[in-house]
Amino acid sequence: VAKLADLLSVDDARTRILARFGRLSEELVPLEDALRRVLARSVEARGFLPPFANSSMDGFALLSALTRSATHEAPVALRVRTTIPAGSGEPTAIDREEAARIMTGAPVPDGADAIIPFEDVDDLGDSILIRSEVREGACVRPAGQDVVPGESVLPAGLEIRAAQIGMLAALGIDQVWCVRRPEIAIVATGDELVPPGNELRRGQIYNSNVPMLAASVEEAGGRPSMLSTIKDDPGAIAQALEAAFGSDLILTSGGASVGDFDHVRAAMGVGGDIGFWRVRVRPGKPLIFGSIGDTPLIGLPGNPTSAMVTFQVFARPAIRVMLGQSPLEPEIEAVVDETIENRGGRQTYARVRLRLESGRFHASLSGPQDSAMLLPLSRADGLLVVPEDVDEMKPGDVGRVLVWRLPG
Ligand code: AMP
Ligand code: MG
Repeated sequence: VAKLADLLSVDDARTRILARFGRLSEELVPLEDALRRVLARSVEARGFLPPFANSSMDGFALLSALTRSATHEAPVALRVRTTIPAGSGEPTAIDREEAARIMTGAPVPDGADAIIPFEDVDDLGDSILIRSEVREGACVRPAGQDVVPGESVLPAGLEIRAAQIGMLAALGIDQVWCVRRPEIAIVATGDELVPPGNELRRGQIYNSNVPMLAASVEEAGGRPSMLSTIKDDPGAIAQALEAAFGSDLILTSGGASVGDFDHVRAAMGVGGDIGFWRVRVRPGKPLIFGSIGDTPLIGLPGNPTSAMVTFQVFARPAIRVMLGQSPLEPEIEAVVDETIENRGGRQTYARVRLRLESGRFHASLSGPQDSAMLLPLSRADGLLVVPEDVDEMKPGDVGRVLVWRLPG
C-alpha cells in the first residue's frame, strides 16, 4: 500500500496534467453562435463608432457661435425649415441664422456644431428662441467617440458574452475567430448503471455522472463528443477507450480504485500509458491521469461528488488551457462558520453554501461530506479549499472558495 506522501499533491498533479495541453486551433464562428465562445484573436475595429457625428438628443442643430449673446431677456432667434430623422441619408446643411429639427441618432448637418434639446428652447414653429449660450459640441456624439479604426476592442482569450456580441455587431462584424471547442469523450463504467427514465432493477442505480460530466464539459466551454457507458469488463472498456481515441480528452468515470472490478487502469494498459494514479485530494483520491496513444485521459472516480470535484479541480483547468484561457479562475474569500475537519494530509474540497453578511461571504457545509451523496453537492454554492496541511478550520477562519454561484 502506497503511503500518502508517495501520492502527488493537488498542485503537482494539476501541473503534470496541464503540461500535456495547449491551445487548440481556431475557426470562424457566425456571431449568432458566438455566445460563450472564446476569442482566438483580438478584434480590431476597422471603422469609426459611431460612424458619423450624430445628435444625442431630440432638439435643434445649430452653429454654437450664433448663441454667444443669448440671454433670458435678449434671446437669439433662429429660423427652422428642415427636420432630420435618424437614418436620414440625405446630405443636409443649414444656412446661417438657421437651425434644423434633429432627432436622436440623426447625422449632424453641415454648418452645425451643437444641438440644443427641445426642452431648452421656445418653439415658435418656424423659428426658435434660445435664451442662453449653447456650448460648441453640446449634445453631439462625434464620429469615433466610442471606437476609432485600428483600436483593439476585444482581447484574445476573452469569453464572448452578451455585451461583446453587442460590441461586435455595432462594428458590423458577423463572424469571429474563436478557439475550437475541445471535444471531450466521456466513458462511464459500471455494471450497475441505468440511464434515467428507465425502471431500476435490484442492485441498479441511475447513471448520474454521465449527464453531470457532460454538463460540466459544456459549462467549461468544451463539447461532450461521445457519451458511453460500459460494463465493468476490461476488454469492453479498452474498446471504448479506443473508440474515443482522437478526441481532445477522454474522461472516464468509475473503475479507478482498487475494487475487484475497477478495470480502467488495466484497460488503459492495453494501448495507453498511465502517467500517475492517486492524488492527495478529498474527495477523489483514486484519480488517474494518462493517455491512450496521443489522447490524454483523466480517470475520475465513480462516486458522484468525487467525479464532480476532480472534474472541477483537474479537468476544467485542462479545458480552459485548450481554450487559451488561464487554467485557474479567481476564488473568493469566505469566513468559515463551522468547524471543518481535515485529518489525513489531503487537500479537501468541502461542499459549502455561501451567504453574504455585512459585505463578507460566509461558508457553511451544504450537508454531510460523503462523496457518494448528491444532495449536499446539489445544494452547494461552491467548494471550500482546505489545504492538506490544515487539520481543521474553525469558525472565524478565512478560506478560499471556488464559486459555482453567488448567494441570493
Ligand atoms: P467506482 O469508482 O466504480 O468504484 O464507483 C464508486 C461508487 O460510485 C459506486 O457506488 C458506484 O455505484 C458509483 N458510481 C459509479 N459510476 C457512477 C455513475 N456514472 N453515476 C452514479 N454513480 C456512479
Ligand atoms: Mg464501478
